[in-house]
Amino acid sequence: MKDLHVVLIGAGIGGLTAAIALQRAGFKVSVHEQAEELGEVGAGLTLAKNANKAMRSLGLTAKLSKIGFRPESSGRKDLMTGVIHLLSSAPGDVRQDKGETDPDPDARFWMHHRADIHALLAETVRANDPDAIHLGHCFQSFTQDANGVEVTFTNGDTVTGDLAIGCDGNRSAVRQSLFGEDKVDFLGYVAWRGLVPVDALPDGTIDTDTSVFDGKYRSVVRYKIRGGKTINFAAYAQKSDWVDEGWSVPAKKDELVEEFADTCEEVQQMIKHIPAETCFRWGMFGREPMATWTVGRVSLLGDAAHPMLPFLGQGAGMSMEDGVVLARCLDAANSIEEGLHRYEAARVERTTLVTIGARYNGLHMHGTIEKALEERAKEFDPIKINDYDPSTVPV
Ligand SMILES: Cc1cc2nc3c(=O)[nH]c(=O)nc-3n(C[C@H](O)[C@H](O)[C@H](O)COP(=O)(O)OP(=O)(O)OC[C@H]3O[C@@H](n4cnc5c(N)ncnc54)[C@H](O)[C@@H]3O)c2cc1C
Repeated sequence: MKDLHVVLIGAGIGGLTAAIALQRAGFKVSVHEQAEELGEVGAGLTLAKNANKAMRSLGLTAKLSKIGFRPESSGRKDLMTGVIHLLSSAPGDVRQDKGETDPDPDARFWMHHRADIHALLAETVRANDPDAIHLGHCFQSFTQDANGVEVTFTNGDTVTGDLAIGCDGNRSAVRQSLFGEDKVDFLGYVAWRGLVPVDALPDGTIDTDTSVFDGKYRSVVRYKIRGGKTINFAAYAQKSDWVDEGWSVPAKKDELVEEFADTCEEVQQMIKHIPAETCFRWGMFGREPMATWTVGRVSLLGDAAHPMLPFLGQGAGMSMEDGVVLARCLDAANSIEEGLHRYEAARVERTTLVTIGARYNGLHMHGTIEKALEERAKEFDPIKINDYDPSTVPV
């Protein structure tokens, strides 16, 4: 099995993490990315303890702690008044919040700029194999037989491998090739994001390192990144008009100003100081979790396998876990079929619960919870999410 060539389609956070894990297990890896240049959108990313266990297993903890921000206070606030109704000194640390002993206190909760993590992952893949990443390769189609997989790209290039993994994000073309057109529901929510330089804000605007502002049909989340010098800002509001799903659609700042004009001073100040060119908006879409991700030698990973809403801050974490578990499963198996079967068996249930949990959390935050979803979300346990270690979980 060690001489397998794994073709990864998509060089996002999931594809690059999988590449590193597979390289460390001794497999040959090629990563094929549609973009002509590697990069990530200008936005923040929280990495909860489970995601950091994935990074630790790849030897990246020390480097990540140099580029990340470790929050020490978090406030749950009223969107209209700004009054804190819940203060925590251990943001994201579910056990500590409940006064319980943490079985793995070394795995911390960090906040990052997406581009910083992405650059570190890409640099690590290239340090292992300078030729592993192929840019300007947009997936078009694949064929497979008993001997392998051939992937064709829109530029006419092809690559053959022993197996292929679609890591091509929430609107995955690989997923659609395997399972047909997606069924998507617009959930009636629109999100805006932006980056605020802390220096630009009037003194005293920011108190806690992270804040969640709850309001009826609207909410705001903001947290510090890059040594605490920048604020990652995200705002959500219920809207009936259909909005694009991509998260890089430039937004008119006036629309954001107007939507949140009646909110507390802290939110108003942050919106005022978002540079217009960093303001984007996108629509929230729901997809049902899938029971299987694999057909023969082709499978899925990250958002391609389990697109989820951002309300638990776990999408990237799940894609990192997938990469670590996939490499372990292939390493432990005697055949590709067995390896992919073990991978799905280890990952589908967990990612399904987190997908449902994220949808539940989003609707709950906005006071629009559906009864049926409440039932499905009963099994969701935030402690189990944090305690999971993809490098030791049975596969
Ligand atoms: C605003 C926002 C905030 C978020 N915050 C958090 C957070 O705090 N914590 C967290 O854990 N998660 C968060 N997430 C979710 C997280 O960003 C995603 O779950 C994560 O990026 C998934 O990684 P991925 O590699 O699966 O997909 P992506 O990051 O989308 O990467 C997919 C890659 O595939 C490439 N690609 C696409 N189509 C093709 C094709 N046809 N051929 C070749 N390449 C292709 C793309 O260019 C891209 O490079 C957030 C998401 C959003 C929208």
